Amino acid sequence: MRRLDSGRDVVALTFDLCGGPYPGSAGNGVDADLLRVLRRHQARATFFVNERWARANPRAFEDLAEDPLFEIANHGTRHLPLSVTGRSAYGEPGTRNPGEVYDEIAGNSAYLAARLGRRPAWFRGGTAFYDEVAVAICEEMGERVIGFVVNGDAGTTFSAGQIVAQLATARAGDIVISHANRPEHATAEGYAAGLPALLARLRPVTLSGHLRPA
Ligand SMILES: [Zn+2]
Repeated sequence: MRRLDSGRDVVALTFDLCGGPYPGSAGNGVDADLLRVLRRHQARATFFVNERWARANPRAFEDLAEDPLFEIANHGTRHLPLSVTGRSAYGEPGTRNPGEVYDEIAGNSAYLAARLGRRPAWFRGGTAFYDEVAVAICEEMGERVIGFVVNGDAGTTFSAGQIVAQLATARAGDIVISHANRPEHATAEGYAAGLPALLARLRPVTLSGHLRPA
């Protein structure tokens, strides 16, 4: 699922909280400036939380989970690209078989459910890489696989100007991916500059308001 099944002028802002030691999009930080920007604009958003990030940031996790503006979704247990053959993506080793795919989804699903009081409805794997078997396993487990159309921050490698330009490309129904775990990068600055123009065109929504669960 890469877009909302809605013809209305809505946009889904999604932010991954990856955690852990890998290069690229990983990191256990909390982008407090970005959260302030979203809250200042009352912008609804969905946070894909990896279990490693949640364990490293229990108070920040609780703060997100308690905010009615925000929805929590599953970003995996160990942030592994989902494959039944061990394919890697962006330098991160993938799951090697269906059992590891199951563990990657179910481990964090149980962890989040214990804290949220319900299982997450949406899943995005580490690096947003999947093979077809892995997608089928995930949906069989009752979590819908969420991709994206607009790459907001390219794993936090974009400058603020590039992020503004990406947000300007968002159209009605698009899912936007960015990251909230690397405050040392430009994501907050890009959203502070680009969000007002986006909000003049589109209304941000959480995934649960506009997608059917699996
Ligand atoms: Zn991630």
